[in-house]
Amino acid sequence: MITMITGRGNGKSLIIEVAQGNPGCLQFLMELYKLPNGIETILRLWKYGIKGSRAYQLWNDCCGRNAALAAEILEATDMEKLTEEELFHNIDQPRGLKFDIEEIRQREPIRKEGYLMKKHGMMIMGKVPKGACPECAMVHDPAMPHNQQSLAYQYRFYDQEGRWPTWADAMAHCTEDVKERWIAALKEKGIEVK
Ligand SMILES: [Zn+2]
Repeated sequence: MITMITGRGNGKSLIIEVAQGNPGCLQFLMELYKLPNGIETILRLWKYGIKGSRAYQLWNDCCGRNAALAAEILEATDMEKLTEEELFHNIDQPRGLKFDIEEIRQREPIRKEGYLMKKHGMMIMGKVPKGACPECAMVHDPAMPHNQQSLAYQYRFYDQEGRWPTWADAMAHCTEDVKERWIAALKEKGIEVK
């Protein structure tokens, strides 16, 4: 399920999406943001649907407010050292359970590397809903622009181009008259397309 977000495609919009207005979670995400693998970790939270109070529980209860440990747990899940079931089992308790990190470290990874480290974001959106555009995961006429606000589109684009997409990118495949109509419509909403 792709959630529509407002605002520009950047790390902040992802944080808003994952935090779900939970102040404790936001604090956790800010801690993660300081880590070298912070964005990857936040993408993993998003990928596994661990948001708001559940993300807070992962950090606060399961990891004793150690953001680096939470990042390691999520990476271990990506490498399939830890199953999603195990991850969720520890989180979804009245009080989250601690992970035995020493034991998890000993496990043989099934995936040799966390792919998000190499490929920013896109594997997470492997599946798109039936009938939806494979680029932006939204249902739209292929002649029309992609939904520039779609997280799927933003991360797929980022993965390919190494920068966030603009509306000009989202309509690059459209005919001139479609572009003109969209540029005019966006201008009415106060969005300038260059
Ligand atoms: Zn599209």
